[in-house]
Formats: sequence, C-alpha cells, structure tokens
Amino acid sequence: MPVTVHNNVVSGPEERGIPAHLSYGQFLFDQLKNGGDNIALVNAETDESVTYRHILQHSVNLATTLRKLGLKKGDVVGLSSENRFEFIVAALAVTYCGGILSTLNITYTPGEITHLLKIIKPKFIFTSPITSQNIYDCAIEMPYKCQLIMFGEFDVVPDCIMYDNLIKDHVNVDDFTLTDVNGQDDTVAVMCSSGTTGLPKGVELTHVNFLTLSAHMRYYFECVQEKKKTGIINGLTLIPWFHAYGFITTFAVMAMNIKIVFLIRFDEQQYLETIQNYKINMTTIVPPLAVFLAKHPLVLKYDLSSLVEVWCGAAPLSKEIQQAVSERTGIDFIKQGYGLTEVTMACLVDLTSGDKVGSCGTPAPGMRVKVIDIENGKQLGPNQEGELWIKSPLRMKGYMGDRAASDALIDDAGYVRTGDIGYYDNEGYFYIVDRLKELIKYKGFQVAPAELEALLLQHKEIADAGVVGLPNEEAGELPLAFIVTQPNSKVTEKEIVEFVASKVSPAKRLRGGVVFLKDIPKNASGKILRRELRKMLQKYKSKL
Ligand code: AMP
Repeated sequence: MPVTVHNNVVSGPEERGIPAHLSYGQFLFDQLKNGGDNIALVNAETDESVTYRHILQHSVNLATTLRKLGLKKGDVVGLSSENRFEFIVAALAVTYCGGILSTLNITYTPGEITHLLKIIKPKFIFTSPITSQNIYDCAIEMPYKCQLIMFGEFDVVPDCIMYDNLIKDHVNVDDFTLTDVNGQDDTVAVMCSSGTTGLPKGVELTHVNFLTLSAHMRYYFECVQEKKKTGIINGLTLIPWFHAYGFITTFAVMAMNIKIVFLIRFDEQQYLETIQNYKINMTTIVPPLAVFLAKHPLVLKYDLSSLVEVWCGAAPLSKEIQQAVSERTGIDFIKQGYGLTEVTMACLVDLTSGDKVGSCGTPAPGMRVKVIDIENGKQLGPNQEGELWIKSPLRMKGYMGDRAASDALIDDAGYVRTGDIGYYDNEGYFYIVDRLKELIKYKGFQVAPAELEALLLQHKEIADAGVVGLPNEEAGELPLAFIVTQPNSKVTEKEIVEFVASKVSPAKRLRGGVVFLKDIPKNASGKILRRELRKMLQKYKSKL
C-alpha cells in the first residue's frame, strides 16, 4: 500500500470515503442480492450449504417478524451462539431494522454475561441450545424485559420464541424496505473490549465504521489478486463469529460474494481435511493456528496446495513462526494485520510479497499513525519505539454508557491511544514490540487483568492481587496472578487457580499459575505497577 510520512505521521493511501447516510444493512442486502443462487456458506462439519438467495430470504422474513415483535431502530439485540447459518441470518435481520447487534462469547460464565447485559440492555437475545441456560438465568435477573429467541428445534428454556417460527412467513424481498439510518452516527454493533484499562466495555461501532472496513478488505483483496493474478473462490473461517475479528471479517468476505466454509470448533484433523477437501484458497487465522501449521506433524500429511492466502490477526505473529509456516506448507502469502476493536479491527496491514516478515504492515486507507515517546509525549521518527496512536475513519463512536473511558482513549485531534508499543521503519512499515496497556491476550481472546484482580479479591484468604500475562509460544500469553495472602493463610496455588476457573470463561483461567508475594508494587495513588510485575516475571520464569 502506498505510504507517506510527513512530520512523523505515517499515512496510508487516500480514503475513498463512505457517504455518511449509508446503511451497512443496505450494503449487505445489495451484496446478498448480487450473490443470487451461488453458495454463500458451507458448514464443513455437516457439509450443508446455503445460497445467498436463501440467506436474503430468511433474513427479510426474520426482519419483518422482529419488527412486528417490537424491534425498533436503536434497540440492542444480543446474539450468543456458535457459528451456524442462523447466526448470520439473525445478524442481518437486526441490521436491516436499524437495531444494534451485540455478540456474546459463548463460553462466558453467568458473571461475565451479567456484566455485559447490564451495559448493553438488550431487548431480544438470540441464543442456541449450548448457551441458552446461562443466558436465561442471567436475563431473568435483569430489571428490564429481554425476550429470548432460540435457534434449533427444542425450547430448552421457558418463555423463549423459536427462531424457526419467525422465518416461516414468506415476505417478498422486493417489497421489503430497510429502516433508514444515519451511517455516520448510528451504531450498528457493540463489541466487547477492555481497552487500555479496567473491566470489559461495550465498543460502539457505526454503520460507516463497518462499511469502511468492508471497503478496505475489498481493496486489500484486489491489491493482492492483482499481484498474484489468481482469484479467491473458497474462504475458510473457524474464528468464532461472536469475536469481533471473526464477525467483521466474515461479513466483509461474504459481501465480496466469496464462498465461506466454516467450522464450529478447532479439531486438528477436521481443520486440515477441510482445507484439503474444499480446496480452500484463503483463510483467516490467529497466531496459535499459525503455531499449529508451523509445528504439528499432521500438517505434512495433507495437501494444502490450494491455500494461497493466510491472514493472521488478533495478536502478535512472530517472524519465526511466520517463516516456519511458509517453509513447511509452501504458502508464501502469510500476512498479519494489526488492529483493535476500538478502531474496527484492521488498521495496519502487510500486503508485500514476504520481504517484511514480522511486520504488521502499513496504515490502511485513510489512517494516520504516530508513535509517541511514553516518557515525554514527543512524536517520534522512524526506528524509535513508542506508543502507537491512530486517527482513522474506523474509530469507534465510544464505549457504551462510559463517556469518561471514551474520552480518556481519544485525544483532541481525534487520535486513539492503542496502548501498544511499536515503531516504523524507514519505509513506513510497523512492528509491534510490546504492550503498554493492561490487556492480556490468550489465543487472541481478551483477558482484562482488572477483572481477574477484582475476582481474586473476593477470595477471603487473598489480601491483594496483580495479574499479568506470562509469554507463551502457543497461546501468546497465559494469565498469571501475583498474590498476597491474608496473615496465617494456607491457601494454595491449586485452590486459587480452581477458584478463578469456577468463575470465569476458559480463556481467563490462571494457566500461567500463581506467584506468592509480600506486596504488590504500586505507585503513590495505589495503581498496580504492572511493569514491575512483568520484570518479576522474568525472574520467576528463569527459575522454572
Ligand atoms: P482486540 O480489541 O481484541 O482486537 O485486541 C487488540 C489488541 O490485540 C491490540 O491492541 C494489540 O495489543 C493486540 N494485537 C492485535 N493484532 C496484533 C498484531 N498483529 N501484533 C501485535 N499485537 C496485536
């Protein structure tokens, strides 16, 4: 991508600009129409497939009944489900109605669901049999009415409406009108992120944010296809759609009318078989999958020669693993992108032909990126490490119901503080080297240390706690807790690990273990000095 560097600000190519009134729902509706009778989605576990026409018809039927049930523009609708056809239809229908979609991680525990429901206050929640009990238990405790809509054949929980009944009545697609929105201001989705500090929050993304990201993805694909003179026919995703990365990329790829083969869970053999049998050309992955491709013996038993493009995001991909995947599989196009939910995911993308291994690329169209010295706030030039700040049309509207946290993240000139440390080289290519913010990433999933610390402090034998990420090649980082126990306590590491595991979703478990300390290092105002804890981690690691 063309890059310009001016006054120590690195800019991507010029943005083509999305008209502010546009609706993401209208865009997807039009793209589905273009897809016609071609296959849009394939469930690789069952080999079932659906066409664009089928998805369009069902989403229009569903939108019509949702309106009758009272869904209005600006209402929040939760979506808690594994990857399945109904997920896509429900998301589209809500978007057509001007609703705000909020996806919930299916592994969330009741405590985590309750925290989010208090923020997003959904009017409806779509749920599948595997998530419905927890969702029901939490929803009935809310002070507002929240109607559950159930995917599948059985009403696992009381008072739910069956999804299948809502799509039965055939509506003429040509007679259907979408709800008007103001694309620039109206929120289309709320995604979960803890940002630079504190507990998980709801990131409000607008129609224009999503439309811009879709336009960028088309641009990346066109740039790459032009170079390689090949077309992408079959894409594969196993990133859960409840995760912002999976959700946003899947809809953007679908809007290009590329067939998407999806998996519901990761199974080594099934994953490789799917690439081989469906002749997958392109896939989106997270770094742990790159480690699998680089190291697992099974990989060599499969013919992966159809695969020509692999896009990696959500966490750092090391140069060594990137090279190892290429050497081992022969896939020469393994590219990483960098971004964060607060700027609709992809801000930096590498489109080179392998000459910048380890880099996460150059700024996307319309992006301006500056590197700020963390000691003195000065704007730095090439090859100097500092915090990345990004100005972009992809910037979120704000954190839902949390003006203070939104203001703290965005400066007066509109730059978003990323909390990541990196630098750019003389050609404007960025390298991420460290993280300044609290966030831990386990296999691409966010783990907010503040959330685990608050939980640990509920344990009667724990006097104080500080949580950091223990670097790990396969997972990226493992949450590890430094613990100060109450006087005379005999609490063990195992008990603490089990206590946390009983309260949080699997990604947040203390897989890095527990280190007992006399004091948690803090500054004068009581803020945990995580850098000090990370330094201690080095010592602790060398003893392992
Ligand atoms: P999320 O909002 O869940 O996408 O998390 C965003 C954070 O993930 C970023 O602020 C980074 O800390 C990390 N991240 C995402 N992509 C990369 C990458 N390519 N290299 C390094 N860190 C990354």
